[in-house]
Amino acid sequence: MIPYGRQDIDEEDIRAVTDALRSPLLTTGPRVEAFERAFAEAVGAEHAVALSSGTAALHAAVAAADVGPGTEVIVPSMTFAATANVVVYQGATPVFCDVLPGSLLIDPACVEAAVTPRTRAIVAVDFAGQPCDYAALQGIARRHGVTLIADACHSLGGSVRGRPVGVLADLTAFSFHPVKHITTGEGGMVTTADAAAAGRMRRFRHHGVDRDHRARADRASWYYEMVELGYNYRITDIQCALGLSQLRKLGRFIERRQEIAQRYDAAFQGTPGISPLEVGPDFTHAYHLYVVRVGGADSRLSRDELYRKLRAVEIYTNVHYIPVHLHPFYRDRFGTQPGACPVAERAFEQILTLPLFPSMTEDDVARVISSVSRFAQEAAT
Ligand SMILES: *Cc1c(COP(=O)(O)O)cnc(C)c1O
Repeated sequence: MIPYGRQDIDEEDIRAVTDALRSPLLTTGPRVEAFERAFAEAVGAEHAVALSSGTAALHAAVAAADVGPGTEVIVPSMTFAATANVVVYQGATPVFCDVLPGSLLIDPACVEAAVTPRTRAIVAVDFAGQPCDYAALQGIARRHGVTLIADACHSLGGSVRGRPVGVLADLTAFSFHPVKHITTGEGGMVTTADAAAAGRMRRFRHHGVDRDHRARADRASWYYEMVELGYNYRITDIQCALGLSQLRKLGRFIERRQEIAQRYDAAFQGTPGISPLEVGPDFTHAYHLYVVRVGGADSRLSRDELYRKLRAVEIYTNVHYIPVHLHPFYRDRFGTQPGACPVAERAFEQILTLPLFPSMTEDDVARVISSVSRFAQEAAT
């Protein structure tokens, strides 16, 4: 069976975790800080704050942007529900934007049109691993005085004209879920150049308490103050030991992902009914996902049919994503309706995510290509 994504764990990772288990501090210890420093350096960011998940990272980022009741946050509809959910956690309203048909990245024109006096932030999602048009989005954010947040859960290792994902927005959130580029089991990170925002996010992950455990220990003091409502979004030293070890392999992981994507690109060029997403010339794509559109003028193939046929030969694909504004929760709570984001809704009917992960063998890649090509040829008109 070939899954659509899977972690890549080696003996070095396992040793790092067992070392952490033998150390005195299992959480809020030196491995958390070491992982934050190494991560900040890897993406060229000034500050990095590690949290217990990518969702916690996004939640901390919107809170640091002063998103609260009475405010709005612009999010793309073509994303995982967590991107919008964190806005709702803060008592604010997500405003769904449509995406560009070729790349499925948020459409800057739609963002511009969605800004109101209540807009507090824009969250851009680097769908599949390709960075958004941050030059255009920064322009809109500056003009209207709102915070630009990148949901970079797909794009660790990506860049725009040599500038890495992690420094392209005011706040950038990453996930270390096992299907993502590097894993800590569960985990997340926010990078920023804003020292005050980094301080707020550190407080946010620890109940809104203004000093961390180590600072108190250093001062031999039991005293602390809770200055705002926070959460327990801490990440453990066990997880950060794995993160540090995985981070050392990031370059290799990305190269392998790009290599597989290039093989898919070459194989599907001219295949009837199979159209990979468009990639812009200025972008280094991190290829978290390899998404194709299924069907078209020269094909009777439907996405659901291809999904079923691949599953029957033990190739497991997936669909990223059901447009968030179509979920019952958002329809009931915010009155969102079909037709609000026509490009995302149309794409949703056609998209399929093919297997892509660094430990795929050449045989795995060849098997995906030959099966997809065969089913596509059978349905050609
Ligand atoms: C994975 C993901 C998240 C959430 O990350 P978790 O670590 O699973 O909480 C948020 N947004 C996007 C686009 C993601 O892919």
